[in-house]
Amino acid sequence: MGLLDQRFENSNVFITSMDNLLSWARLSSLWGMQFGLACCAIEMMATGASHYDLDRFGTFFRGSPRQSDVMIVAGTVSLKMASRIKTLYDQMSEPRYVISMGSCSNCGGPYWEHGYHVLKGVDRIIPVDVYVPGCPPRPEALMEGLMKLQEKIRAGSLVEKKTA
Ligand code: SF4
Repeated sequence: MGLLDQRFENSNVFITSMDNLLSWARLSSLWGMQFGLACCAIEMMATGASHYDLDRFGTFFRGSPRQSDVMIVAGTVSLKMASRIKTLYDQMSEPRYVISMGSCSNCGGPYWEHGYHVLKGVDRIIPVDVYVPGCPPRPEALMEGLMKLQEKIRAGSLVEKKTA
């Protein structure tokens, strides 16, 4: 018999590591940056509205990069906006996460071939953690992307990547 056997059966005690505790806090309070670029942003706004209720994930949109944990790049990234997106990303504190929402942000979308003014993927300027496919992705797809990001934070791999 070990010293601790049967000592906690009737107690509300749980034991975890500090890393697990931090990961749990981070994935449960993913505050999104409140900005959009094109049609995908309408779906992002719908996801944050009452019908889909992102609040239950702990996800709120904030008006400042300083208060945001996750940047959802929703829409066409024109070359003119690319430098602004990079600046906003740099202003976020670490750990920071990026979701690329929709074909335009993932790879240039319908502007892939002839859109001389469009960046062919936001991952050319900032590191992307989760890609959400679609043109546009429905709110359910964005929510799945957020849950995928939560899984990755729980696994701990993203934090190491971003702070290295
Ligand atoms: S992926 Fe489609 S819906 Fe989204 S911004 Fe591009 S054209 Fe619009």
